Order: sequence, then C-alpha cells, then structure tokens
Amino acid sequence: EASSSDDFQTLLSWADKHRRLKVRANAETPEDAAKARELGAEGIGLCRTEHMFFEAERIDLMRAMILSESKDERQGYLDQLLNFQRDDMLELFKVMDGLPVTVRLLDPPLHEFLPHDEAEIEALAKRIGKSAEKIRDIVKDLAEVNPMLGFRGCRLSVVYPEITEMQVKAIISAAVAAIEAGHKPLPEIMIPLVVNVREIRLVSAIIDRGIRAVLAEKKISVPYKIGTMMETPRATLGADRLAGEVEFMSFGTNDLTQMTYGFSRDDAGKFIPQYLEKKLIEADPFVSLDQRAVGRLMEMAVSESRARKPGIKYGICGEHGGDPRSIQFCHDLGLDYVSCSPFRVPVARIAAAQAKVKREMGNS
Ligand code: PEP
Ligand code: MG
Repeated sequence: EASSSDDFQTLLSWADKHRRLKVRANAETPEDAAKARELGAEGIGLCRTEHMFFEAERIDLMRAMILSESKDERQGYLDQLLNFQRDDMLELFKVMDGLPVTVRLLDPPLHEFLPHDEAEIEALAKRIGKSAEKIRDIVKDLAEVNPMLGFRGCRLSVVYPEITEMQVKAIISAAVAAIEAGHKPLPEIMIPLVVNVREIRLVSAIIDRGIRAVLAEKKISVPYKIGTMMETPRATLGADRLAGEVEFMSFGTNDLTQMTYGFSRDDAGKFIPQYLEKKLIEADPFVSLDQRAVGRLMEMAVSESRARKPGIKYGICGEHGGDPRSIQFCHDLGLDYVSCSPFRVPVARIAAAQAKVKREMGNS
C-alpha cells in the first residue's frame, strides 16, 4: 500500500511535468541550500549576503569595517571579510553544483550591523580596539530615522564601492575555486534596491572591476550574470531602461509592497490586524500579493522590459514567491521563476502546476 509520502511524491512529479514556472529557494547557508535542493529547488533565487555576516567573529569584523575612519582601515577589514565571503560562497556553489545561485550584494538596514546600547559599545570597543567614545560618535552619525528607507541596497555601493568590490572578488574567486574542484558554479550577481539606470551602470562598473581583478590572474572563464532587484516603484516605472543594462530582473515584493503602500515593513504588524478586522484591506499585502496595485507595477515592468529585451529573465524573490495565489499571478505574468523559503518549495511546485492547468482550462 502506498504511503501518503509516496502519494505526495507522485503529486510532485505530476506538478513538475506540468508547470512552466521554475522554483528556486531563498538560502544563504549550505544546510538550507541542501534542504532546498532535496525539496526540488532548481537554484537559489536569493542569497541575502548580509545574513552571512551575522555570526560572532564576522559581525565584529563587519561592525569594525562600517565604523572605520579611513579607507585604509576599512580595506584591512574588507580583506578579512573577503576570506569568509569566499569560503561561504564556495560551499554554496558546491551544494548547488550546476544550478544558478543568485547572490545579492549587501543590503543591510545598516543599523542592524551597529551596536545598540552602551554595554554593546563597551564590549565592541574592547574587541576591536577602538575607543568607546569614538564608536559612540560614529554610531550617532550613522543613526537613521527611517532605516528601511535609508542607507540600504545599492546606496551602499555608491558610498562604499570597496565593499561591493570585496563581495564580487569573493564570489568570483569562489566560482574559480569551484571550477578548479570540478564543479559547475553559475553565479548571478544581483544589485539591490535599485531606483534608476545610472545606479546600475555605476554598480556594474564596480562589479566588472572586481571580476577583472580576479580573472586577470586566472586563465579560466566564469559564466556569470548581472541582474537587478525590482523593488522600488521608481524602478518599475522605468523598467525598459533598466532591462537594457542587465540579464535578469527579480521582483522584491516585500519592499515593493512597503513602498507602494507606504506601510513600513517593520511596523505594519502594529496596525494590519485592525485593517483586516475592519475590512479596510482584504488580505495582508505582505503575505498575498496585491494584484491591483503591486501587481500592476509588476505587469508594467515586465511588459516594458520585454519590449526592450524580449528574452530577459524575470523572477520574484519576495515572500509572495511562496504564496500559492501569488504564484498564479506570477505564472499569468509570464515570470520565469519564483523563489521562496526552502520549506515552501514543494507547495510552490504544486501551485505552479495548478496555475498552468487552471489557465489552460480557462482558455479552452
Ligand atoms: C524583497 O524586498 O522582497 C526582498 C526579497 O528583499 P528583502 O526582503 O531582503 O528586503
Ligand atoms: Mg528588499
């Protein structure tokens, strides 16, 4: 007698035969990547590199780097961070052998990398050999009123190009090492929180510089792609021009929802329950894609981008990428893939197949 787990596998193989959308996972650790692969992910659609720096030793290096007072001091920390970044990326490339890994450049709400209270400042001062006084001053300078709308994403590359260069060198050196070890890494470098085409050109130039620096010493070719997140209304309203500069685009619907509504992602929990109770909204827009608003921005972006560059690859990597109703919308929109948390991959595979079947039945 077939177990329910066998039935589920049968259902999944039916789904894989019928779906058009690819399903990727959001993952940063080799463990999550392996889990994602086991659950059928066809790549990593979002590796949030800022998460790779939260561990003990790294967070101190990261903090020290951000608190640096000179370019030289910063470069010293970046050189150490590069080793961690390269080793981590190598592990991911090994696990995802032959499948694309979309690595997003650092997108920190900067405050998450800073010490928060006096005790933390004192402790950090001892560990990184900087005066508590000095740290206090810099932290005060870096404090933001609206961190989620502040010094994030590619804005960091604009102010600190050396951070981006470090990351790119790490990603490409890891890819080279993976190739030398007999693996097939497929890195896709993704620029976060883009607003306009000039940012993409500026960051792409930094990326090219990093890649050339690594490959100048190696007689090896690394198959990489450069792409952009689509997560600000401004980016969706000029998508054709952005498409002209990149090979793939991926909707970050968490931020796109935040900015379309003007609902802070970090504070929405304080009032959304009341909005739902009073029927001011039908569903939590951070869970289920608001097709009438965020969806329309997405439609506009995809059609303009494809008019400019017909084959451009399009994905989604916000939380909505794992929500069945949103997946139907992404299928109808003609996206190439959805990317979601590893544990949601099986459900996304089924939702993607249902989306296609439903559309075909609707059209016949
Ligand atoms: C998004 O904004 O939808 C996204 C995927 O990026 P993050 O959640 O890391 O801001
Ligand atoms: Mg985002």
